[in-house]
Amino acid sequence: MNRKYRKTIIAGNWKMNMLASEIKGFMEQLKENMPASRNCDVVLCTPAVMIPAMAKAGKDCKVYAGGQDVSKYEKGAYTGEISAAQLADVGAKYCVVGHSERRQYHGESDMLVNEKTKALIAKGIKPIICVGESLEQRENELTMEYVAYQVKAALSGIDAADLKQCIIAYEPIWAIGTGKTATSEQAQEVCCGIREVIRKKYGARPARSISILYGGSMNAKNAAELLSMPDIDGGLIGGASLKPVDFSTIIAASNQE
Ligand code: PEP
Repeated sequence: MNRKYRKTIIAGNWKMNMLASEIKGFMEQLKENMPASRNCDVVLCTPAVMIPAMAKAGKDCKVYAGGQDVSKYEKGAYTGEISAAQLADVGAKYCVVGHSERRQYHGESDMLVNEKTKALIAKGIKPIICVGESLEQRENELTMEYVAYQVKAALSGIDAADLKQCIIAYEPIWAIGTGKTATSEQAQEVCCGIREVIRKKYGARPARSISILYGGSMNAKNAAELLSMPDIDGGLIGGASLKPVDFSTIIAASNQE
């Protein structure tokens, strides 16, 4: 982390878990365990139907509600889709985009991720853009080449002013939900590489200011070490964000200097 130049963000991704009726109890436990003073933004990305309840429950303790996906379209005949304006209207401040599960199970392309990112920016929602390599790509030493390609594709046509709204999450696919975490050195190397991609495209200042998160089996035990790395500005956390005590421990770990 480097708090002098950029925001630390601890974001939970609940995926398709929990019920709206469980939010109150979860938040009570989270508040009980969360450090009184925090140096980070805390976000919980819930299923869309739970965003209003999360936005309400998080208001007094500054936990922001986030979405997990968005339509690339502004409005219209797109049954089942949710627009950026609708997310903003119910209180979403952040939204995950291009998660590997969306890319894998719903065939989302880099171009679609780019269009969704632009749709979010247009409505003032901060996109958390997910990128990351497969195990095969890592074993073939293609990690940085592939991740750089994903970052450039996601940010295509986005200018430096709009980049200020964006967050990148480096999530190696082989580490998501597997219990296999990237080592802090592996995660640092790729996050630093992503910052270099941003520097080449936008210049030194935007590169210094963008928050780059690590995601992939981050938990209460390994968070402090991952977050101590200079180019890791927070976490995108799946499984451990469903447990209020573990999630609050990760938040506390982000308080380190
Ligand atoms: C994720 O869903 O983005 C994620 C990183 O999940 P987990 O922490 O469970 O690996």
